[in-house]
Amino acid sequence: MSSDADKTTFTIILSACSTSGALAAGREIHEKFIALTEYERDLGVQNALLNMYAKCGSLEVARDIFRKMERRDQVSMNVMIAAFAQQGLGKDSIQVFREMDLEGLPQDDTTFASVITACSCCGALEFGKRIHKRVVEPVLGRKCCLPNVVVETALVSMYGKCGTLEQAKAVFKAMTTKNSVSWNAMLAACAHQGQGDEAAAFLRAAACEGVELDSASFISVLIACSHSGMLEVAYDHFQLMLSDFDLVPAAENYRCMVDLLARSGRLGDADELMNSMPFSPDAIAWRTLLGGCRVQGSLENAASAAEQAFNLEPQNTAPYTLLSSLYSATGKKDELVELRSSMKERGLRKLVPGRSVIEVHGRVHEFVAGDSSHPQTDKILRELDILNVELKQAGFVPSTDGVVHDLKTEDKEEILALHSEKLAVAFGLISTKSGIPLLVLKNLRVCSDCHAAIKLISKLRSRVITVRDANRFHRFQSGTCSCGDYW
Ligand SMILES: [Zn+2]
Ligand SMILES: [Zn+2]
Repeated sequence: MSSDADKTTFTIILSACSTSGALAAGREIHEKFIALTEYERDLGVQNALLNMYAKCGSLEVARDIFRKMERRDQVSMNVMIAAFAQQGLGKDSIQVFREMDLEGLPQDDTTFASVITACSCCGALEFGKRIHKRVVEPVLGRKCCLPNVVVETALVSMYGKCGTLEQAKAVFKAMTTKNSVSWNAMLAACAHQGQGDEAAAFLRAAACEGVELDSASFISVLIACSHSGMLEVAYDHFQLMLSDFDLVPAAENYRCMVDLLARSGRLGDADELMNSMPFSPDAIAWRTLLGGCRVQGSLENAASAAEQAFNLEPQNTAPYTLLSSLYSATGKKDELVELRSSMKERGLRKLVPGRSVIEVHGRVHEFVAGDSSHPQTDKILRELDILNVELKQAGFVPSTDGVVHDLKTEDKEEILALHSEKLAVAFGLISTKSGIPLLVLKNLRVCSDCHAAIKLISKLRSRVITVRDANRFHRFQSGTCSCGDYW
């Protein structure tokens, strides 16, 4: 067999492995054959390896190969930019894109669509806008890459996820071709902002244009309604799914309705819907019901919903946090003590660390709860100290409900002060000119203490601070939040 034939064979096999997710087979080809030949240093084979490892979920191995490559081309860069973006590693994806720029490699629709997606997952709005400019204007002989439905849909999604609904709408309206993914991106943008009326209007428009809608389209409408407290509209859409669109509501559609009913104070109806679901409610559904009990300050059903959630996901601490916050708000001290000791007995600790990102001057900075790895940590901590003093002077009392560890009060306050969203906000405040709005993205729900603190910080510092948490957008301005403390 000639060497070209060997090379072709390797790339075809590796490509087959990536399509079918056959990691073990792909690794065997790599280690037992390719590694023993000079093909390990061949660009085409290396690209095929990158693609195989990335698509089969071994992103770290792909990263390692990529970093050791002597020469990289457009294909290598595209594979890594897309792989990082798909895994939610926006910062890494943007880093590779910058390297691609530096090396002067050609970029195409795939590059742009992927890096725009990367911007949405780390809130890099400023950088995303620069990319938007690049895809609109032809530069140095490169032709303009719009119209392109994939790139434009990525832009709609990015603007939606970065809290700029008007820009998402502008891109969407200018699109000459839209597919169902584009419509769903637009609906999701409305959902993030809690714009129930707009989401419903876009859904009607999509239906009029004969777009194929799915349960995700309806999830967005239900979430949007849920965030704006529009129970009737949500219920109508829930019914419409079956009656007019022949769609069977998925678990998430039910959860949205449970959430909305519970938060509107109709806990009995929420409980009834849980019991009438065509499948057994999962842990998220029970936590949703519990979240509604907490918002309503209702103890009825709360303990049993928490127990159901614990049983389904024994290692998840979220139900403990919700229940302890409810007990604390309703003055149930004995129950609170009992709950904390039962949590200690079960050996539970917060498993997923809080992680927040903020973009400053086109660069994304990441913070983990209690983190001190940022080069400007000293300045950030000094700013937090100043803020804590100002907050206390303004009458702020830290709420320690969410801290479920067995700690002394001072330690709890210390831990609250170092929540990732607060680190990111403090960094944003010291790194930008006064008046510049801040956008922080957090992987978990913002805790009630940070929520209350950031509300006050927005007033003390006259800043608009937007926090996108796991659940929704919070736009803090002049001491209030757009969620109306309803989250
Ligand atoms: Zn917090
Ligand atoms: Zn809020």
